[in-house]
Amino acid sequence: MHRPIGRRDFLNGMALGAAGLVAGPRWLAGLDLANDPAGRPGAAARPGYPPALTGLRGSHEGSYEVAHALRDDAFWTTVGPPEDTGEEYDLVVVGAGLSGLSAAHFYRRMAGGSPRVLLLDNHDDFGGHARRNEFDQGGRLVIGYGGSYAIDSAAPYSAVARALVDHLGIDVSRWERAVDWSLYAARGMGSGFFFDRESFGVDRVVRDPLADRGARGRAGPDPWERFLAEAPLSAKVRSDLERLVRDPKDPYPGLSSGEKKARLARVSYADFVTNVLGHDTGVLPVFQARPHSLYGVGMDAVPAQDAWGLGFPGFQAMGLDPAPGPGMNLDAIPYGEAEPYFFHFPDGNATLARLLVRGLVPASVPGSTAEDVVTAPLDYARLDQPDAPVRIRLRSTVVRVTHAGDPATARQVDVTYAEGGRLRTVRGSRCILACWSQVVPYVCPELPPSQKDALAYATKVPLVSTNVLVRDFAAFAKLGFHHFHAPHGYYSSVGLDLPVSVGDYRCPRDPEEPILVHMGRAACRPGLSTHEQHLAGRVELLETSFESHEREIRAQLARLLGPGGFDPARDVLAITVNRWPHGYAYQYNSLFDEFWLTNEEPPCVRARRPFGLLAIANSDAAAYAYVDAAVDQAHRAVLEVLPRRG
Ligand SMILES: Cc1cc2nc3c(=O)[nH]c(=O)nc-3n(C[C@H](O)[C@H](O)[C@H](O)COP(=O)(O)OP(=O)(O)OC[C@H]3O[C@@H](n4cnc5c(N)ncnc54)[C@H](O)[C@@H]3O)c2cc1C
Repeated sequence: MHRPIGRRDFLNGMALGAAGLVAGPRWLAGLDLANDPAGRPGAAARPGYPPALTGLRGSHEGSYEVAHALRDDAFWTTVGPPEDTGEEYDLVVVGAGLSGLSAAHFYRRMAGGSPRVLLLDNHDDFGGHARRNEFDQGGRLVIGYGGSYAIDSAAPYSAVARALVDHLGIDVSRWERAVDWSLYAARGMGSGFFFDRESFGVDRVVRDPLADRGARGRAGPDPWERFLAEAPLSAKVRSDLERLVRDPKDPYPGLSSGEKKARLARVSYADFVTNVLGHDTGVLPVFQARPHSLYGVGMDAVPAQDAWGLGFPGFQAMGLDPAPGPGMNLDAIPYGEAEPYFFHFPDGNATLARLLVRGLVPASVPGSTAEDVVTAPLDYARLDQPDAPVRIRLRSTVVRVTHAGDPATARQVDVTYAEGGRLRTVRGSRCILACWSQVVPYVCPELPPSQKDALAYATKVPLVSTNVLVRDFAAFAKLGFHHFHAPHGYYSSVGLDLPVSVGDYRCPRDPEEPILVHMGRAACRPGLSTHEQHLAGRVELLETSFESHEREIRAQLARLLGPGGFDPARDVLAITVNRWPHGYAYQYNSLFDEFWLTNEEPPCVRARRPFGLLAIANSDAAAYAYVDAAVDQAHRAVLEVLPRRG
């Protein structure tokens, strides 16, 4: 348990200790760290290549200190005037996530000619949440996703987003050929529900009735039968659970379907199950953590109407008509039997980011297809070349965007950013803010107060997305599970990635091969409102060291897989913790966002209004945490800035 893993904990130990020696505010130390990637764990193998860095990634040290100093009013008092670079661009994009990269792409196509575009991002890698993690195990490349997982949206992809996916050469219809469904199924491996001894008196894994439901016939006709028989639950809880899943009563007889839905919109699923249906609170752990991967909160904060839309039990006797009710979250709305639109690359949606970068800065990424890009060696040194029409400047936090003169008549904007301890200014004929909405009020002092309030409403969802390289998956195979749902675990989701091979990349197929275990954590605080939970979770993520993550990871893997022979000291080879304190875009929730139940204009519409030469993109601008939203908002923002005065 305590054997060190290479230099992965370097950043939180030695490196931050060294940063403490730097005179000046902490954000300045962060800047220096950010400018020294060779000092990061894992960097020695491939200097200047961020995907290969391990340790604490996602919003890594050095990426957020400037923005936090700005938020805390501690920035401008500690810096001198910015240096004027003299650089001028047709478009400056703040944020090189999928929205910012798409904005650059659309602008170049729509503006015609060869416009000059600069993208600025505070991270040391592009793509935003679409982050790639790489591991080199004895010369073998193992690729994982550090954030955004798949081309997949609850709502159908818009024509604009589909056209971009097509343009990038991604043929989603090839998904079934890329994934090897039989790899785990042939070994009888399914999904498990982990009962922990602290809560249930015993550590036990039982086939998960919800995960295995409909999963290619792996579960029997009634997945609950085995679960109810084997789960370490009291007789009372077992009987209540059985009634809930098989024979729930209608708690609102006499009301119309619409009236029932209106009630369900205002009660959480947890309250619905216990207080409305009257079941024992002991049934809740079976459901509480299920929405973690969707909303970053548990069932205490998910409206019962949404749980109904998502297919959770308890509503069978209510005679609800299938049409979505007012206030449903877009994720919970059943969109019918449209053809599946899904693709998962080994690095998730980082492949989309790489493809966009190849189009914008061809010299940085060799190759020509959506397959060869998966293993293409990306040259980060070429992203910001003086003569290139498009430049991507990383480790650059934008701190101020102001019009050069009256916003109503100005012909340029000044964009100031902090990079490597220096402040620098560039000029743009227009600027798209594809960064997080919450950041914009601190960066754009000119915006009207009501718009700043609306932007600030977009509290992002804190999440942790961790990749653990393990020696093999023999223990998983022996136990018969490829995934575990652990409602009380530090990570509520622990599992092997989908086995997908694209281009030259071959996923691990043999139980003896090294493989990535993906672990997901929602940093939530049940009982609080969604906004409060996200705020508390963000603080937690900022304060949690890599050593702490590492301890939790090793302990959890030992408990889950130990009975299969897994030894964390021997079998854990490397860890990359992608912490996303500012993760998913906040999606509205009928329990906490009153306006979402009425026809009132939601804050994101007010927040994304263009202002002078500025337009606002990012998935926050749609309050919808999916790639298609990021792309659609980029497209709209480009249409808004295109005809401006510049
Ligand atoms: C863990 C996780 C898993 C996800 N999985 C999926 C999935 O499977 N499918 C899906 O469709 N969506 C998924 N998403 C949602 C994802 O957020 C969107 O799909 C999309 O990638 C968002 O892109 P974006 O450009 O709008 O925002 P981001 O990716 O957040 O990019 C914005 C960029 O702006 C930068 N920025 C912020 N402030 C500044 C500043 N002042 N100066 C410079 N740069 C700044 C940010 O650091 C960031 O790099 C996931 C998100 C997370 C966190």
